[in-house]
Amino acid sequence: MELDKMDENDWKYHGEGNKSLVVSHVQLSRVLRLLKYPAEDSENPPQTAEQAFRQIQNIVDFSSNVMSSLLGEKFIHSGEVVKLPLEFVRQLSIKVQHQRPVWRCDKVMDIYSGCALCLPNLTSPALHQPTHTPPLCIEIKPKCGFLPSSKHVSKDIKTKVCRFCMHQHYKVANGKWKRRSLYCPLDLFSGNRQRMHFAIRHLIEEPQNNFKIFKGGQCIYSSKEGSDDSLDLNSLLHHLRPYFMYGNNRINCHMTSKAVLNDFIQVLVNALLSGGGGGGVTDRRGEGRSFCEASLFNRERIRHGSQGLPSDSVLFRILQTQMLDTLDIEGLHPLYRRVEQHLQDFPKERTRLQIEGPYNEGFLEKLQKCPTEDDGSVEYAVSKVHQYRAAMTAKDCSIMVALVPSGEEEEDDDGQRRFRDFLSPRPPAFSCSVSILDLDPKPFDSIPRQLRLDQKIVSCYLRTGGALP
Ligand code: ATP
Ligand code: MG
Ligand code: ZN
Ligand code: MG
Repeated sequence: MELDKMDENDWKYHGEGNKSLVVSHVQLSRVLRLLKYPAEDSENPPQTAEQAFRQIQNIVDFSSNVMSSLLGEKFIHSGEVVKLPLEFVRQLSIKVQHQRPVWRCDKVMDIYSGCALCLPNLTSPALHQPTHTPPLCIEIKPKCGFLPSSKHVSKDIKTKVCRFCMHQHYKVANGKWKRRSLYCPLDLFSGNRQRMHFAIRHLIEEPQNNFKIFKGGQCIYSSKEGSDDSLDLNSLLHHLRPYFMYGNNRINCHMTSKAVLNDFIQVLVNALLSGGGGGGVTDRRGEGRSFCEASLFNRERIRHGSQGLPSDSVLFRILQTQMLDTLDIEGLHPLYRRVEQHLQDFPKERTRLQIEGPYNEGFLEKLQKCPTEDDGSVEYAVSKVHQYRAAMTAKDCSIMVALVPSGEEEEDDDGQRRFRDFLSPRPPAFSCSVSILDLDPKPFDSIPRQLRLDQKIVSCYLRTGGALP
C-alpha cells in the first residue's frame, strides 16, 4: 500500500460507528478508519489537520500503551496513523456515501485532514486461504457486564437492573429503536454456557448496534432499519448452514434451522470462553452469580452451576477493565469536579496530570498506582478519573471473533476421523481468533454528560416502571 498512489477504486465501504467510518481494501487485509463529525459542521471542520492527526495518534497510544496492558496484548491491534492524499479522501467519501445507512448520515466523513487510522482487517484474517471456505467473523459490542456496588449509588434500581437493560427502555421511549433488545450483558459475561447462549440468541434477534456477522470480509447480518426481520434470519441461516453440515447431516443434508443456529451459538460461546488463540488454561475464578432483574433468563433453568469466566478469556479481561469503574458515575463526578477546580486554579497542571494525554506509560502508572483511600488530593482524583475513562472505553469496545473452518482436508485423508465425525453429535471444528476493537479514549470533559445521561436513563426507567413491551 503506497500512500502517495492511493486509488479509491481499491477501497470499499466496510462499516461505521458513531465516531468513525471504515473502508476496506479490496485485496489486502487492511482497513482505513476515518473520523466523522456532525453534518451541520460539514463546511467547517471542527479541528485542524494537526489536531486530527493528534487525535488519531492519541487513539493509537491509548490502545497500545493503556488498553493493551489492561486487556491483554494478544487481543489488540492498535494500527498506525496515515496521511492520505486529500483528493483520494474526497473521491472515497463520494464513492461510499450511497452505501451508508441513512440513520448514520447525521455525521459526515472528515475529508479535510487527510488523516486516518490504518488497521489490519479483522473480518478477513490473512490466515484465510481463498480456495477454502471463507471465514465467519462475529462482532459483538457487549457493553457493561456488571452491576455497580458503589456506596455512592443513590437509586436502588441501579443495583438490580443493569445499565444496558435500563438504557434499552430509554432508547425505545425516545424513538432511537423501535423494539427493545432482550440481550442482557450480565448473561453474556456470566461464564455460564446456558446464559451466554441465551444472550447471543437475543443479540441475533435484535442486533441493533451490538451484533454483526461478516463472511469473507462482507457484512452479511446486522440491524437494518425498516427491513423484514424474518427474511434476514432466513438469509443468515442460508449463509450459516454450509458451515454446520457434519456427521449425519453432511450425508442426508438435513438439519433444522434451530440446530444450525444452536451449533453456531455454541461455537461462538466456545470462542468467547477460550484463551483467544485456542487452547489455554481454564483457571476459573469468580462465580458469575450476578443477575439482572430485567433479564428474561429463567434462573431455575440453570442445569450446570455457574462456572465463571476463565481468566484468560476475552470476556474476563474486558469485565475486569470495566470494573475499574469502582465508584460509579455518581461517586466519580465529585472527583472530576475536584480535578476541574484544580485545573482552574493551576492551568499548567493539565500537562503534568496528563488530562488529555499523552497516553503513555506515565498515564498507565497514574491509573494503576491509585491510593486505596481518598486522601483528598488531586492525585487521587486524577487517578480515579483515569480509571473511569479506561473503564468507559472497555464498556464501549467490540469483540471480533474470527472462525475459520478447520479439519476439512484432515477428514478427507483420514478415514478414522471421518468415521468419528459421522457418529459425532458435536459441531465441526473451527480455528478461532479473538480481537478487541474500538479502543478510543473517552474525553475528560464527557464525564458531566455521563452523569446527566445516567440520571435520565434511571428516571425514565423508574417512571415507566420497566413496563414497556
Ligand atoms: P462506536 O459507535 O461503536 O464507538 P466507532 O465509530 O468508534 O464505533 P468502530 O467501532 O471502530 O467505530 O468501527 C466501526 C465499524 O467498522 C466496527 O463496528 C466494525 O464493524 C468495523 N471495523 C472497525 N475496525 C475494523 C477492523 N480493524 N477490521 C474490520 N472491521 C473493522
Ligand atoms: Mg464501535
Ligand atoms: Zn440486564
Ligand atoms: Mg468507538
